[in-house]
Amino acid sequence: MLFDIHVHSDLSPCSHLPLSDILKHARRRGLDGVCITDHGTMAVGSSVREGVQEDGLCVIVGMEYTTPQGDFLVFGPLEHLPQGLDAQDLLARVDCAGGAAVAAHPFRPGRSVLESVFTANACRLVEAVNGRNPAAANEQALALIRRRNLVGLGGSDAHSLAELGRMATRIHTPVHGRNDFIRALRQGRCQHHVMPLPPAPHPLAQACPTGPGQGHMGHAPAGEPGLPARGIASGEASPALR
Ligand SMILES: [Zn+2]
Ligand SMILES: [Zn+2]
Repeated sequence: MLFDIHVHSDLSPCSHLPLSDILKHARRRGLDGVCITDHGTMAVGSSVREGVQEDGLCVIVGMEYTTPQGDFLVFGPLEHLPQGLDAQDLLARVDCAGGAAVAAHPFRPGRSVLESVFTANACRLVEAVNGRNPAAANEQALALIRRRNLVGLGGSDAHSLAELGRMATRIHTPVHGRNDFIRALRQGRCQHHVMPLPPAPHPLAQACPTGPGQGHMGHAPAGEPGLPARGIASGEASPALR
């Protein structure tokens, strides 16, 4: 099953993508499932019934959580997670709750995940391909995954309809809801997947304007515009930038 595990509804202050558009268009993009991962909130869960919809689309509610050590996509019974945790605390809480945490865009300029998170073996799930990343940042993530034998996943990080489904994760076991999805991730039964879609327009909103200090747990400004990150899934990694 193909899931876009990283989608922002317009409950994220930086997104212009209504939930209704996600639900309407996801199947047409070749997706079997979407994870809605708004910044710092799982509130979209009150507007959609999780699990398989009438058209067969499986909807999972998660959250993108910003820590000083990087951003994580978290899945589990985490609706009441306190704000302001560091990565170590966050990962411990998610694990304790039986959830799963994915290091989001670990090499995105300005929003990287501290590599000690991986050396300490605290997080084995890594967003290998992110639809908003510069291509080099995805290549570095793929190299990290190979180097440390981690599990690679893919997500579009869509903040607009044009971006929905640009990258995905293939789940190797049937998923009917949040628990199946988390189990597959925890068992590593998943793999990143670059979708065969036409290139999306250059994203206008690379930098999410809100940050933890502004009442939302958003991205800090990325500082550099992204480049289309297509077709690098099987490419050789470029030399590390840092
Ligand atoms: Zn995101
Ligand atoms: Zn955002």
